[in-house]
Amino acid sequence: MTEQQKVALITGANRGIGLETSRQLGKLGITVIATARDEKKSEHTAKSLREQGIDARPLKLDVTRAEDREAAVKFVEKHFGKLDILVNNAGIMIEGEWLANDSGTIPLKTLQQTFDANFFGPVALTQALLPLLKKAPAARIVNLSSIQGSLANHSNPKSPIYNLKPLGYNSSKTALNAFTVHLAHALRDTKIKVNSAHPGWVKTDMGSDAAPLHVEEGAKTTVELATLPPDGPTGTYSHLGKTVPW
Ligand code: NAP
Repeated sequence: MTEQQKVALITGANRGIGLETSRQLGKLGITVIATARDEKKSEHTAKSLREQGIDARPLKLDVTRAEDREAAVKFVEKHFGKLDILVNNAGIMIEGEWLANDSGTIPLKTLQQTFDANFFGPVALTQALLPLLKKAPAARIVNLSSIQGSLANHSNPKSPIYNLKPLGYNSSKTALNAFTVHLAHALRDTKIKVNSAHPGWVKTDMGSDAAPLHVEEGAKTTVELATLPPDGPTGTYSHLGKTVPW
Protein backbone atom coordinates (compact mmCIF):
# COMPACT_ATOMS: atom_id res chain seq x y z
CA MET A 1 0.00 0.00 0.00
CA THR A 2 1.34 3.44 -0.96
CA GLU A 3 1.21 6.49 1.30
CA GLN A 4 -1.07 8.19 -1.26
CA GLN A 5 -3.68 5.42 -1.00
CA LYS A 6 -6.67 6.94 0.80
CA VAL A 7 -8.29 5.09 3.68
CA ALA A 8 -11.87 5.61 4.86
CA LEU A 9 -13.60 4.29 7.98
CA ILE A 10 -17.40 4.09 7.82
CA THR A 11 -19.54 3.28 10.85
CA GLY A 12 -22.67 1.19 10.39
CA ALA A 13 -21.36 -0.05 7.03
CA ASN A 14 -23.30 -3.33 7.01
CA ARG A 15 -26.57 -1.96 5.60
CA GLY A 16 -28.45 1.06 4.33
CA ILE A 17 -26.65 4.31 3.53
CA GLY A 18 -23.43 3.13 5.24
CA LEU A 19 -23.12 0.11 2.97
CA GLU A 20 -23.78 2.16 -0.16
CA THR A 21 -21.33 4.86 0.99
CA SER A 22 -18.67 2.17 1.44
CA ARG A 23 -19.41 0.86 -2.05
CA GLN A 24 -19.26 4.30 -3.69
CA LEU A 25 -16.04 5.32 -1.86
CA GLY A 26 -14.53 1.92 -2.66
CA LYS A 27 -15.38 2.32 -6.35
CA LEU A 28 -13.38 5.57 -6.29
CA GLY A 29 -10.33 3.48 -5.38
CA ILE A 30 -10.39 4.34 -1.68
CA THR A 31 -9.59 1.58 0.83
CA VAL A 32 -12.65 1.08 2.96
CA ILE A 33 -12.78 -0.09 6.58
CA ALA A 34 -16.33 -1.42 6.63
CA THR A 35 -17.25 -1.44 10.30
CA ALA A 36 -20.29 -2.99 11.94
CA ARG A 37 -21.21 -3.58 15.54
CA ASP A 38 -21.55 -7.29 14.78
CA GLU A 39 -18.20 -8.86 13.82
CA LYS A 40 -19.78 -11.41 11.45
CA LYS A 41 -21.72 -8.68 9.68
CA SER A 42 -18.57 -6.60 9.16
CA GLU A 43 -16.81 -9.67 7.72
CA HIS A 44 -19.74 -10.44 5.44
CA THR A 45 -19.90 -6.79 4.29
CA ALA A 46 -16.17 -6.57 3.56
CA LYS A 47 -16.32 -9.85 1.65
CA SER A 48 -19.24 -8.70 -0.51
CA LEU A 49 -17.45 -5.40 -1.24
CA ARG A 50 -14.22 -7.23 -2.14
CA GLU A 51 -16.24 -9.34 -4.58
CA GLN A 52 -17.13 -6.04 -6.29
CA GLY A 53 -13.42 -5.24 -6.71
CA ILE A 54 -13.18 -2.95 -3.65
CA ASP A 55 -10.30 -3.00 -1.16
CA ALA A 56 -12.48 -3.51 1.91
CA ARG A 57 -11.41 -4.53 5.42
CA PRO A 58 -13.77 -5.74 8.15
CA LEU A 59 -13.77 -4.32 11.67
CA LYS A 60 -16.12 -4.80 14.61
CA LEU A 61 -17.11 -1.38 15.93
CA ASP A 62 -20.04 -0.51 18.15
CA VAL A 63 -19.64 3.25 18.46
CA THR A 64 -21.08 3.21 21.99
CA ARG A 65 -18.39 0.83 23.31
CA ALA A 66 -15.10 2.39 24.48
CA GLU A 67 -13.19 -0.89 23.98
CA ASP A 68 -14.36 -1.11 20.34
CA ARG A 69 -13.32 2.50 19.71
CA GLU A 70 -9.87 1.85 21.22
CA ALA A 71 -9.50 -1.31 19.10
CA ALA A 72 -10.47 0.69 15.99
CA VAL A 73 -7.72 3.23 16.69
CA LYS A 74 -5.17 0.40 17.10
CA PHE A 75 -6.38 -1.27 13.89
CA VAL A 76 -6.04 1.90 11.81
CA GLU A 77 -2.67 2.74 13.41
CA LYS A 78 -1.27 -0.73 12.80
CA HIS A 79 -2.49 -1.22 9.22
CA PHE A 80 -2.43 2.30 7.77
CA GLY A 81 -0.79 4.77 10.18
CA LYS A 82 -3.32 7.47 9.16
CA LEU A 83 -6.98 7.97 8.32
CA ASP A 84 -8.12 10.11 5.36
CA ILE A 85 -11.90 9.87 5.76
CA LEU A 86 -14.14 9.25 8.76
CA VAL A 87 -17.85 8.80 8.09
CA ASN A 88 -19.92 8.89 11.27
CA ASN A 89 -22.86 7.16 9.59
CA ALA A 90 -24.24 4.81 12.27
CA GLY A 91 -27.43 6.07 13.84
CA ILE A 92 -30.62 4.92 15.51
CA MET A 93 -34.17 5.98 16.04
CA ILE A 94 -35.74 4.06 18.89
CA GLU A 95 -38.70 2.04 17.63
CA GLY A 96 -41.98 3.86 17.87
CA GLU A 97 -40.38 7.30 18.25
CA TRP A 98 -40.95 8.44 14.67
CA LEU A 99 -44.58 9.57 14.97
CA ALA A 100 -44.46 10.01 18.70
CA ASN A 101 -44.27 13.82 19.17
CA ASP A 102 -43.00 12.76 22.58
CA SER A 103 -41.21 15.73 24.16
CA GLY A 104 -43.54 15.66 27.16
CA THR A 105 -43.35 11.91 27.70
CA ILE A 106 -40.13 10.42 26.29
CA PRO A 107 -38.39 8.31 28.95
CA LEU A 108 -34.93 9.64 29.81
CA LYS A 109 -33.57 6.18 29.06
CA THR A 110 -34.75 6.44 25.44
CA LEU A 111 -33.20 9.86 25.15
CA GLN A 112 -29.92 8.61 26.63
CA GLN A 113 -29.79 5.51 24.40
CA THR A 114 -30.36 7.66 21.33
CA PHE A 115 -27.70 10.17 22.35
CA ASP A 116 -25.25 7.34 23.10
CA ALA A 117 -25.44 6.07 19.50
CA ASN A 118 -26.07 9.32 17.62
CA PHE A 119 -23.96 11.82 19.57
CA PHE A 120 -21.66 10.55 22.33
CA GLY A 121 -20.45 7.59 20.23
CA PRO A 122 -19.54 9.65 17.14
CA VAL A 123 -17.94 12.38 19.28
CA ALA A 124 -15.81 9.89 21.22
CA LEU A 125 -14.84 7.97 18.07
CA THR A 126 -13.85 11.15 16.24
CA GLN A 127 -11.79 12.36 19.20
CA ALA A 128 -10.04 8.98 19.44
CA LEU A 129 -9.24 8.94 15.72
CA LEU A 130 -8.22 12.60 15.49
CA PRO A 131 -4.46 11.97 15.86
CA LEU A 132 -4.67 9.55 12.89
CA LEU A 133 -6.84 11.97 10.88
CA LYS A 134 -4.19 14.63 11.49
CA LYS A 135 -1.56 12.29 10.03
CA ALA A 136 -3.41 12.19 6.67
CA PRO A 137 -2.59 15.00 4.21
CA ALA A 138 -6.12 16.50 4.25
CA ALA A 139 -8.67 14.46 6.15
CA ARG A 140 -12.45 14.71 5.79
CA ILE A 141 -14.98 14.03 8.54
CA VAL A 142 -18.64 13.56 7.61
CA ASN A 143 -21.32 13.45 10.29
CA LEU A 144 -24.59 11.85 9.16
CA SER A 145 -27.11 14.30 10.43
CA SER A 146 -30.67 14.70 9.19
CA ILE A 147 -32.96 17.58 8.27
CA GLN A 148 -34.70 16.43 11.50
CA GLY A 149 -31.83 18.07 13.39
CA SER A 150 -32.59 21.49 11.91
CA LEU A 151 -33.99 23.90 14.52
CA ALA A 152 -34.67 26.43 11.76
CA ASN A 153 -37.03 23.92 10.11
CA HIS A 154 -38.56 22.83 13.41
CA SER A 155 -39.49 26.39 14.31
CA ASN A 156 -40.96 27.13 10.87
CA PRO A 157 -44.64 26.06 10.57
CA LYS A 158 -44.21 26.01 6.77
CA SER A 159 -41.43 23.42 6.90
CA PRO A 160 -42.36 19.90 5.71
CA ILE A 161 -40.84 18.49 8.93
CA TYR A 162 -42.62 20.94 11.27
CA ASN A 163 -44.93 18.23 12.66
CA LEU A 164 -42.29 15.49 12.92
CA LYS A 165 -41.10 15.91 16.49
CA PRO A 166 -39.50 12.76 17.97
CA LEU A 167 -37.33 14.50 20.59
CA GLY A 168 -34.64 11.83 20.97
CA TYR A 169 -33.74 11.44 17.32
CA ASN A 170 -34.15 15.11 16.39
CA SER A 171 -32.19 16.58 19.31
CA SER A 172 -29.38 14.01 18.93
CA LYS A 173 -28.91 15.21 15.34
CA THR A 174 -29.05 18.86 16.45
CA ALA A 175 -26.28 18.04 18.95
CA LEU A 176 -24.29 16.28 16.23
CA ASN A 177 -24.61 19.43 14.10
CA ALA A 178 -23.21 21.44 17.01
CA PHE A 179 -20.25 19.06 17.07
CA THR A 180 -19.70 19.67 13.33
CA VAL A 181 -19.61 23.45 13.81
CA HIS A 182 -17.43 23.32 16.92
CA LEU A 183 -14.94 20.76 15.59
CA ALA A 184 -14.65 22.59 12.25
CA HIS A 185 -13.79 25.71 14.25
CA ALA A 186 -11.26 23.86 16.38
CA LEU A 187 -9.61 22.50 13.21
CA ARG A 188 -9.88 25.72 11.15
CA ASP A 189 -6.10 26.10 10.88
CA THR A 190 -5.65 22.56 9.56
CA LYS A 191 -6.52 20.97 6.20
CA ILE A 192 -9.20 18.83 7.86
CA LYS A 193 -12.80 19.55 6.86
CA VAL A 194 -15.79 18.63 9.01
CA ASN A 195 -19.33 18.72 7.61
CA SER A 196 -22.85 17.50 8.37
CA ALA A 197 -24.80 15.63 5.70
CA HIS A 198 -28.55 15.33 5.29
CA PRO A 199 -28.85 12.29 3.01
CA GLY A 200 -32.48 12.94 2.05
CA TRP A 201 -35.34 10.61 2.88
CA VAL A 202 -33.91 7.29 1.81
CA LYS A 203 -35.29 3.77 1.38
CA THR A 204 -33.51 1.88 4.19
CA ASP A 205 -34.64 0.03 7.30
CA MET A 206 -34.77 3.41 9.04
CA GLY A 207 -36.21 5.39 6.13
CA SER A 208 -38.76 2.69 5.16
CA ASP A 209 -40.05 1.80 1.70
CA ALA A 210 -42.16 4.95 1.68
CA ALA A 211 -39.01 7.06 1.17
CA PRO A 212 -38.57 8.57 -2.30
CA LEU A 213 -34.78 8.11 -2.62
CA HIS A 214 -32.82 4.94 -3.30
CA VAL A 215 -29.58 4.35 -1.42
CA GLU A 216 -27.47 5.25 -4.48
CA GLU A 217 -28.86 8.81 -4.27
CA GLY A 218 -28.91 8.72 -0.46
CA ALA A 219 -25.15 8.13 -0.22
CA LYS A 220 -24.25 10.93 -2.65
CA THR A 221 -24.13 13.79 -0.13
CA THR A 222 -21.82 11.80 2.15
CA VAL A 223 -19.51 10.80 -0.70
CA GLU A 224 -19.38 14.38 -1.96
CA LEU A 225 -18.41 15.70 1.51
CA ALA A 226 -15.95 12.84 2.07
CA THR A 227 -14.07 13.72 -1.13
CA LEU A 228 -14.18 17.53 -1.00
CA PRO A 229 -11.39 19.35 -2.85
CA PRO A 230 -8.93 21.60 -0.93
CA ASP A 231 -11.11 24.69 -1.51
CA GLY A 232 -14.27 22.89 -0.35
CA PRO A 233 -16.32 24.08 2.64
CA THR A 234 -16.01 23.14 6.31
CA GLY A 235 -18.48 23.50 9.17
CA THR A 236 -21.51 23.20 6.84
CA TYR A 237 -24.81 21.29 6.73
CA SER A 238 -26.00 20.24 3.29
CA HIS A 239 -27.99 17.92 1.07
CA LEU A 240 -26.72 17.28 -2.48
CA GLY A 241 -24.75 20.53 -2.46
CA LYS A 242 -27.62 22.67 -1.10
CA THR A 243 -27.32 24.26 2.34
CA VAL A 244 -29.74 23.05 5.01
CA PRO A 245 -30.52 25.82 7.55
CA TRP A 246 -29.26 25.01 11.07
P1 NAP B 1 -30.29 1.95 8.92
O1 NAP B 1 -30.62 1.32 7.63
O2 NAP B 1 -31.20 1.79 10.09
O3 NAP B 1 -28.80 1.52 9.32
C1 NAP B 1 -28.23 2.00 10.51
C2 NAP B 1 -26.83 1.45 10.65
O4 NAP B 1 -26.28 1.96 11.87
C3 NAP B 1 -26.78 -0.08 10.75
O5 NAP B 1 -25.63 -0.54 10.10
C4 NAP B 1 -26.69 -0.31 12.24
O6 NAP B 1 -26.09 -1.54 12.61
C5 NAP B 1 -25.76 0.85 12.61
N1 NAP B 1 -25.73 1.12 14.04
C6 NAP B 1 -26.74 1.42 14.88
N2 NAP B 1 -26.27 1.59 16.13
C7 NAP B 1 -24.93 1.38 16.07
C8 NAP B 1 -23.89 1.41 17.02
N3 NAP B 1 -24.12 1.64 18.32
N4 NAP B 1 -22.63 1.17 16.61
C9 NAP B 1 -22.36 0.92 15.30
N5 NAP B 1 -23.30 0.84 14.36
C10 NAP B 1 -24.59 1.08 14.74
O7 NAP B 1 -30.14 3.55 8.74
P2 NAP B 1 -29.82 4.43 7.44
O8 NAP B 1 -31.12 4.89 6.90
O9 NAP B 1 -28.83 3.75 6.57
O10 NAP B 1 -29.17 5.70 8.16
C11 NAP B 1 -27.77 5.99 8.17
C12 NAP B 1 -27.60 7.36 8.79
O11 NAP B 1 -28.33 8.34 8.03
C13 NAP B 1 -28.15 7.45 10.22
O12 NAP B 1 -27.29 8.23 11.01
C14 NAP B 1 -29.49 8.14 10.04
O13 NAP B 1 -29.89 8.83 11.19
C15 NAP B 1 -29.20 9.06 8.87
N6 NAP B 1 -30.40 9.46 8.12
C16 NAP B 1 -31.14 8.54 7.45
C17 NAP B 1 -32.27 8.97 6.73
C18 NAP B 1 -33.12 8.01 5.93
O14 NAP B 1 -34.13 8.46 5.35
N7 NAP B 1 -32.80 6.73 5.84
C19 NAP B 1 -32.63 10.33 6.72
C20 NAP B 1 -31.84 11.23 7.42
C21 NAP B 1 -30.72 10.79 8.11
P3 NAP B 1 -26.97 -2.89 12.92
O15 NAP B 1 -27.25 -3.51 11.58
O16 NAP B 1 -26.09 -3.69 13.79
O17 NAP B 1 -28.23 -2.43 13.61
